Amino acid sequence: MKEQLQALEKEALEKVDDATSLKELQDVRVAYLGKKGPITEVLRGMGKLSKEERPVIGELANKVRGNIADAIDSKKASIEAAELEKQLEEETIDVTLPGRPVPTGGPHLLTSIVEEIEDLFIGMGFEVSEGPEVETDYYNFEALNLPKGHPARDMQDSFYITEEILMRTHTSPVQARTMNAMEDKRPVKMICPGKVYRRDTDDATHSHQFTQIEGLYVDKNVRMSDLKGVLDRFAKQMFGQEREIRLRPSFFPFTEPSVEMDISCKVCNGEGCSVCKQTGWIEILGAGMVHPRVLEMAGYDPKVYSGFAFGMGPERIAMLKYGVDDIRHFYTNDMRFLKQYHQA
Ligand SMILES: [Zn+2]
Repeated sequence: MKEQLQALEKEALEKVDDATSLKELQDVRVAYLGKKGPITEVLRGMGKLSKEERPVIGELANKVRGNIADAIDSKKASIEAAELEKQLEEETIDVTLPGRPVPTGGPHLLTSIVEEIEDLFIGMGFEVSEGPEVETDYYNFEALNLPKGHPARDMQDSFYITEEILMRTHTSPVQARTMNAMEDKRPVKMICPGKVYRRDTDDATHSHQFTQIEGLYVDKNVRMSDLKGVLDRFAKQMFGQEREIRLRPSFFPFTEPSVEMDISCKVCNGEGCSVCKQTGWIEILGAGMVHPRVLEMAGYDPKVYSGFAFGMGPERIAMLKYGVDDIRHFYTNDMRFLKQYHQA
């Protein structure tokens, strides 16, 4: 039995030595040290041995088991070390390889334009105000000199929620709100960017939801020439110092007189081309002197105060500035379009 154990030990140690993978090593462990292995078998037969032999064989069997287990453990460590070495070698990082670009987001073109316009007017002393998109009929129309039944209400097809509540059709109600909220009736100099809603069929130049930026300046002795100066500065900063502006008479219920502002066409420099429809001029925004009635309704005495207001569409500004030919591009979220305007 002693020889049997020694032979088993020799055999097992050789197999441990020959093993080249953790899997093979595990097989050796199961085969020799497992419950059905030959050593267990030997130990089971010990009952047949004499009293004197039993402890000797028992001790030897335990020693053999221990030796085999030790050999397996040390071989396991060396196989693991070799595998790690191999893995490290195979997975060496080449630090000279160019990195993979990580895509980053950026502001939407429309957001950038609105911020650019805001910055420009902040530079001229205007404050930025905001107002609700769900508006009352009073602020959206009445306070702006558009009483119920006024024919000019038809110019702005509206989304009504109830008889008295609607989605605002322009950002002008923020003017009325700002002036109304001013308890001491101080001068007001603000712009208001925001979304507005009209019942329009979407096409290349119309959208049922679009953006407006409204401006208002109310103080003593505000004149048309102040309006012209502000608009001229805006046009030059936005579209280039060489741009000229012109004001044409127009009509808005909340301003009197009302004007529309054109800038000289950037494409043809006023010569006439398809962009400016051969006129040399491109319409940019509407403006005018605040109607005395609007001042009065907001609690400002029109004999003391005067003011100007203007409103523009950032989509139109962006379309002209970047040559975008369809307003729907701003709302359909096509990444191919939007990516062109991301600044790193
Ligand atoms: Zn032109």
